[in-house]
Order: sequence, then C-alpha cells, then structure tokens
Amino acid sequence: MRDKVLELNREFKNSDTKEILEFFLKAYKGKIAFSSSFGAEDQVLTEMILKIDADAEIFTLDTARLPYETYDVMDKTNLKYKTKIKVYFPKSSDVENLYKYQGINGFYKSIENRKECCYVRKIAPLKRALEGVEVWITGLRAQQSISRQEMELFEWDEANGVIKLNPLLLWSQEDVWTYIRSKNIPYNALHDKSYPSIGCAPCTRAVEENADIRSGRWWWESPEHKECGLHKKEIKKC
Ligand code: SF4
Repeated sequence: MRDKVLELNREFKNSDTKEILEFFLKAYKGKIAFSSSFGAEDQVLTEMILKIDADAEIFTLDTARLPYETYDVMDKTNLKYKTKIKVYFPKSSDVENLYKYQGINGFYKSIENRKECCYVRKIAPLKRALEGVEVWITGLRAQQSISRQEMELFEWDEANGVIKLNPLLLWSQEDVWTYIRSKNIPYNALHDKSYPSIGCAPCTRAVEENADIRSGRWWWESPEHKECGLHKKEIKKC
C-alpha cells in the first residue's frame, strides 16, 4: 500500500484540488469519506465535494464538548446544501467511565488524561466512521502547524488502514478565505473572534494576532503534542 501511495503522490503532483476530488469521488464511490469539523478548510471542501457529488459521504465527530458556534454552522451547512451530515458520537459507557476515572475536565491535569479523552470522544468514533472506507479525505493544510509540515497529498494511515487524501495540503489561509467569501459559504462565527482553529470548547481558545494557527488548541501543552491522535501516523490507545 505504501508503494501505491508513493505512486499516487507522483501521479497527482500537478493536479488541482477539483480534479483530484472529481477523480477520487468517482473512482472510490461508496468507499470514500470526508471528515468535517466545520472549520474553514472543511467548509471549502464540503462545498467542492457536494458540487461534484451531492450524495458523497461526509461525517463529523461530535465529542459532546463542542462550542455552540460549531453546532450553529453545522445547522447552517445542512440547510444550505439540503443535506444531513452524518454524526458519530462517543459511546455513552466510554464517556461514563472516562468521567469516573478523570472527572469532567481531567484533560487539563496530564497529557495521558487528555489523550484518553481524545481517544474516547474522537478516535474510537472515527474508527467506526471509517469502517469500509478506503480513502479518507481531510481538510489538513501543511501551513497549519509544525507537526503538519511533513504531510503529503496522499498518505497511508496505518492505524485506520486507509489512504488519507489531503487535497488542501498546499492552500494558504488566504486561499481558504478567498474561496469562502467568493462562494458565500457559511463558517464558524468563532473564526471572527480570533479562533483560527476550533475543536472542543474547553480545549480551544482565541489566539494573539500572527500567532501560530493552532496555538489556541491545547494551549497548555508544547507544540509537538498538539494533535488529538486523529492525524498521527501511529494511533495507540492511551
Ligand atoms: S479536545 Fe479536549 S474535550 Fe475534546 S476530546 Fe480532546 S481532551 Fe476531550
């Protein structure tokens, strides 16, 4: 599979985002899915994907700790595209155990607790969402953080057994916002309040002007830990 990924990176090196999406949404119909967290990049991809295939599989992970503004843009997105993006929730028994073990905001106390919370609320539901999927589309961009600069257009995700496709890899933040404004795409209101990257409410805060885009995520941790595990090459249960 790694050879296939190398080949895909060579083959699609000079293709634009729309061409790549058109090809893969058709070639992998029924085995391709896009995960959205309703951030600016994901809203660009939702627009592009649904224009190509109105029935394309789009899902989100509702951790039950999301900000109100994320539910608001979720609703606006469903209404605009006359769709109902699929939602995966964590298992209630897992959340109950998590609460028993670390309390309601235990993720602030240690990296282990934080990773356990992300595992229960994001990674385990993601595994269910990716069952039967061969190509997973994400809205990741290389410029988003130091941990994403090594990313490629296609990657092999060993933990989930899927090819990851990052069609916005080389887009700049300005490219994203120009596209959103030109198409009048709904976006999360927190982006206008200095939140360039938005996750769960207790783990996201506003950033200073010109600060690292993801510095408001898990701000109490060092930059190399600032991933929830969804986009790490090796995903382990913590
Ligand atoms: S981002 Fe925070 S609240 Fe959300 S799953 Fe991870 S640790 Fe839990």
